[in-house]
Amino acid sequence: SSRSCSKAALQRGRMRLSLQEHLWAFYHERVNISPEEQQAARHAALDICAELRAFIHTKVPDMQLRDMYLSGSLYHDLQVVSADHAQLMVPLILEKTLWSFIPGEETIMNLPGFWLVRRENLEYFPRGCSFWDRCLIGGYLSPKSVLEVFEKLVTGSMNWPAIGSVLGYVVRPAVPSHTEALTLSLEVQYDPERRLHVDFLPLLVSEDGASLIGKPHRERENLWRQSFWSAETTKLLTLDRDDNGCRCVCLKIAKAVCKLNPALTPLNASHLANAVLLLSESERDWSREALAERFTQLIRALVGHLEAGRLPCALDPKVNLLCELTPREVDELGYTLYCSLSDPESLLRT
Ligand code: GDP
Repeated sequence: SSRSCSKAALQRGRMRLSLQEHLWAFYHERVNISPEEQQAARHAALDICAELRAFIHTKVPDMQLRDMYLSGSLYHDLQVVSADHAQLMVPLILEKTLWSFIPGEETIMNLPGFWLVRRENLEYFPRGCSFWDRCLIGGYLSPKSVLEVFEKLVTGSMNWPAIGSVLGYVVRPAVPSHTEALTLSLEVQYDPERRLHVDFLPLLVSEDGASLIGKPHRERENLWRQSFWSAETTKLLTLDRDDNGCRCVCLKIAKAVCKLNPALTPLNASHLANAVLLLSESERDWSREALAERFTQLIRALVGHLEAGRLPCALDPKVNLLCELTPREVDELGYTLYCSLSDPESLLRT
């Protein structure tokens, strides 16, 4: 009857209202980071960046680099829970005539979103002509080997205890856990209770302007990863600015849920940002009142992507962002999120 129908609608309305309230409370209490904390972390990151620049400049002046710079969610108010990491972008200079970029789909690995960087003209410009020749493996520039060059410098030659004591920090190179791919990162304790990880991210730009980062593929260490990070971030911020929307709030809540819930950690910022961007293509209303509805939809959309084993990159649909997860991880993530659909609030109880 229409009466029970409206009662159900009312009840649904109440539930939605309460999810809505829960989401905003969670956002303010757990997710969002105070401007002071962000500022302190950015300050520490900048000090470290300055030390590294000066050191590399004087000790390895022939290293072919553009200026290093800091980047990441910390600089766009997209970091969540605590201000604990930033990326140090390290742009390598590659001589145009000596290197070529081969898209992953044109290799036998057939992997869109990843690239090989091949050394060319070795007959005329033998090994050693380019600074980065020292990082060749089988004729290709290896991101792993590039990271190792920095690792030797940063952990082997820099006196971090001395630098740290001048800056008033405790700085130590962080050892990657065995589950992680090769990473190079400095742990900076800039306050008795606060630690910041500064991650090195080598960066190349292809002839066509694609950004490639030295964060190797989980299994194929010779591949460079195409980064859509800047474009994705700009797009999210612009969409929100144009309609005063809550996409970034929705994304930050989802990031916090995944950060705080061990079963969901394989879902990273890029998975979540792209799921929000894809949802933005079909959903117009991102007003603050719509947060609960959009958040629930986001979780449902993620379940769908996981079931299909495919989450296309919003800016290049041939890239499947789930391609590095094992089928088991995909199943488990899908199952965890599917179970939360009947009670999305459960995701906030962490
Ligand atoms: P968060 O670290 O989860 O808060 O999210 P971010 O938006 O800062 O994403 C950082 C991740 O994106 C890091 O793991 C980077 O390795 C990766 N990434 C890929 N491309 C870029 C880039 O151009 N800049 C930065 N800062 N990170 C990138």
